[in-house]
Amino acid sequence: MSGCYCGNSISFQDCCEPYLKGIKNAPNAEALMRSRYSAFAVGAADYLVNTTHISKRRFHNKKDILAWSQANKWLKLEVLASTFKAYYLDENLKAQVHYEHSTFKLENGKWFYVDGEY
Ligand SMILES: [Zn+2]
Repeated sequence: MSGCYCGNSISFQDCCEPYLKGIKNAPNAEALMRSRYSAFAVGAADYLVNTTHISKRRFHNKKDILAWSQANKWLKLEVLASTFKAYYLDENLKAQVHYEHSTFKLENGKWFYVDGEY
């Protein structure tokens, strides 16, 4: 595979993987958004839970996140400021676009995903 799941031309190893593995923290909201998309693509549910703001975490169940990430085939991500479009095929291989305006929060030097409007 050339390029990262998030659409960057650098490899997953050099792009989102260090964030998913907790080696590096996402330096800004866009990097967090991209890395969360890659986490969906590879089924990294722990990362998705850990980067969700503590106030919202109870609404996100790790098993559900994992099931949803694995039921869909993640195609591409388009980032437009704090809005993104995620293209994927659902479990019936029907093309879907998840269009979301997200809220991110910087806390103690770490970026968190708070919530999103679809
Ligand atoms: Zn990436």
